[in-house]
Amino acid sequence: MTYGEERTISLLSKLVSSGDLPHALLLSGGDTEYKKKVANSCAGFLLHGGEKENFSDFLKKSCACKSCEYVSYGIHPDFTRLADSPVSIGKIRDLKSSFALASYLGGRKIAVIENAETFNREAANAFLKLLEEPRGDAVFILLAPARSSLLSTIYSRVVEIRFPARSVGVTEVEIPKEYDEHLKVFEGNSLYRKLLKARNYTLQNKEDVGKMLDFWLLKLRHDMIQEEMSERRGPREAGATRIDLIKRIFAVKVRLHTTNMNPALLMEELSVSSLR
Ligand SMILES: [Zn+2]
Repeated sequence: MTYGEERTISLLSKLVSSGDLPHALLLSGGDTEYKKKVANSCAGFLLHGGEKENFSDFLKKSCACKSCEYVSYGIHPDFTRLADSPVSIGKIRDLKSSFALASYLGGRKIAVIENAETFNREAANAFLKLLEEPRGDAVFILLAPARSSLLSTIYSRVVEIRFPARSVGVTEVEIPKEYDEHLKVFEGNSLYRKLLKARNYTLQNKEDVGKMLDFWLLKLRHDMIQEEMSERRGPREAGATRIDLIKRIFAVKVRLHTTNMNPALLMEELSVSSLR
């Protein structure tokens, strides 16, 4: 759980334990797999009658009670998980007839709808009836990338819990064109082109060199985060080479800021020292 997610969960936790839970929640933004986990845990929490507990704590451990076990297998009689994409009218009709019945175990009835942005108009209209005439104990937990990705009729009837994005990537921090062009050369394989590029740098434009190095570090940091988040890790060697490069870029930055050394020389040295 990231710091931002922890704050979102604490908000959700307050809402879940407030005794005034809305009939329809939307979990928007953030990481889809993580939201699925949260939605299912929330269903488990409400069905095992845990409102007196703290949901944040509940989410961290796994409850071994029968009710939670049935929810995790998707076989709890008062729980429906709809993973279809697009959400079909048939599934919404099934949901409607299931929600017309009283709860089997006397508690709530809960549905998690994982791709709420994929409702077509027909399915949305059917679902809307469910939202408009909610049974006292019904809770719908919708998942979508953003509130604006829902049809407007549903949009206005949900309480949104927004999850923060997991990583700030280079895609979100745009590298200006002039630096990007230089970076491509220094990340490339041609020593000749690197040395040629390095000759453009002088004490007059050393600030530009500093900025380019900052963007380079940002890019390397982004690559590291991406790799840590993905299942497939790169070879250990690639990671070590990257860390080595980061160290050398830092060393150049320090000398750039604290000495009067010629930036061209520093960039040439950086290029040559990458050779094995
Ligand atoms: Zn339980």
